[in-house]
Amino acid sequence: CGIIGIVGTAPVADRLVESLKRLEYRGYDSAGLATLETGRLARRRAEGKLRNLEAVLREAPLKGHTGIGHTRWATHGRPSVANAHPHATTNVAVVHNGIIENFRELRDELLGEGANFESETDTEVVAHLVTREMRDGRNPVDAVAATLPRLQGAFALAFLIDGEENLLIGARKGSPLAIGYGKGEMYLGSDAIALAPFTDTIAYLDDGDWAVLRRGGAEIHDASNALVERVAQKTTASA
Ligand code: GLU
Repeated sequence: CGIIGIVGTAPVADRLVESLKRLEYRGYDSAGLATLETGRLARRRAEGKLRNLEAVLREAPLKGHTGIGHTRWATHGRPSVANAHPHATTNVAVVHNGIIENFRELRDELLGEGANFESETDTEVVAHLVTREMRDGRNPVDAVAATLPRLQGAFALAFLIDGEENLLIGARKGSPLAIGYGKGEMYLGSDAIALAPFTDTIAYLDDGDWAVLRRGGAEIHDASNALVERVAQKTTASA
C-alpha cells in the first residue's frame, strides 16, 4: 500500500525502511525491499510489521545505493513472504500498489511461454512481462513502455533492473506516485510524506504518466509516450 524508491549514491536500505514507516498509516500486512548489490538484484521480505523486515535485514543486510521498497495490503494472494513485494525475475524487480485486473489472462499467456510463478499475486505478471520484452531485445525503458499498455486496472509501479544502478522506472494509473528531486539522487514515492526525509521538491505524476529516473534527474512521459513536464513544487510535509 506504499511505494518508495531511491536511485542514489549512498546505502538505501535503512532509508527505504524509514520511508515505509511514514507510509504505515495506510495499513499493510507485509513489507519488502529490493536493491542492487554490486549490480545484482537482491530482495528481503517479511510478513507483518516493519520490525520483522528490520530483523531480516539485520540478519542479511543490504548495502546497495539503488533500491525500491513496499508495504503490501493484499488484494490477490494471502499475506505471506512469497506474496510480499518486490516480485522479481532474474532481470526485473517490481513493487505495485493497486490491482492488475487482467492478471489471469496475462499469467496464462506467460505460463504458456514457460514462465515460473512464485506467488499468488496479480503483481507478478508485471515482472514477467517486462522480462519477456527484454528477452525480445528491448532495453529496460522500452520494455516497461511496451508492458504498461497491456495492464488493465489501477496501479502505481516502481521497477528496479538487474545491472542498472543508475535507473529506476515508475508508472501510475489510478494510484498516486510522486517524483522527488535530490542532490545527485532521485526518489519515487507514494506521497510527499514518504519523500519528506529526502527532499522538499516533488512533482506528482499525472494519471497515465511513466518516468525514467537517473541520479541526475527524471524524464517523464505521458500515456502516449510523449515527453512531458510536470511542475516540481516545494512541499510542506515535515521531515
Ligand atoms: N494487488 C497487489 C497485491 O495484492 C498490491 C496490493 C497493494 O496495493 O499493496 O499484492
